[in-house]
Amino acid sequence: MSLVAGVVAVQGDVSEHADAIRRAGEAHGEDVTVREVREGGIVPDCDLLAFPGGESTTISRLIHDEGIADEIVAHVDAGKPLLATCAGLIVASSDPRDERVDELGVIDVTVERNAFGRQRDSFEAPLSVDGLEEPFPAVFIRAPAIDEVREAEVLAEFDGRPVAVRDGPVVATAFHPELLPDDRIHRLAFFAESAGVDASVR
Ligand code: GLN
Repeated sequence: MSLVAGVVAVQGDVSEHADAIRRAGEAHGEDVTVREVREGGIVPDCDLLAFPGGESTTISRLIHDEGIADEIVAHVDAGKPLLATCAGLIVASSDPRDERVDELGVIDVTVERNAFGRQRDSFEAPLSVDGLEEPFPAVFIRAPAIDEVREAEVLAEFDGRPVAVRDGPVVATAFHPELLPDDRIHRLAFFAESAGVDASVR
């Protein structure tokens, strides 16, 4: 049987995430069908879900308007894996410290938007990530930092600040793991043994 992956497609690097999921699935011998999520009703059919970056206030508004927000929460409550990146992390957090973002609360952290400042709007850094043997080439674009970590486990830090976390079935990164042809973060989120896709229930 094949897996169905959803990519929340209201904004952001949708095709890049879709490609990374396909490559990661292939590497694990999984046949993955990717669906773009622009409206309600699709997420309940998905085994795994990517939540791309973009602009968190806009994404927050669109997913609530389209009825996708509650479905993402139900997806995580059911123990299915979610990879939230950059603005996706901000919206999925329990505290985005911005009243224009109506948070989902599926990652128990507080985030600071645009935390790395103007001078360093965009940069790439090799990052040690728990669960990966070699450093990951992380691309940060007006990235948030994670300020307070409650239930989540820190997977990576940059400048002493957490930039990748795991909270149950959710992996979240402040950086963009979809932009380079390195799909190890997608593998970690979706296909590692610790991820929630359980072969026995398929
Ligand atoms: N700066 C954006 C925000 O705060 C996030 C940037 C991104 O997703 N690359 O919403």
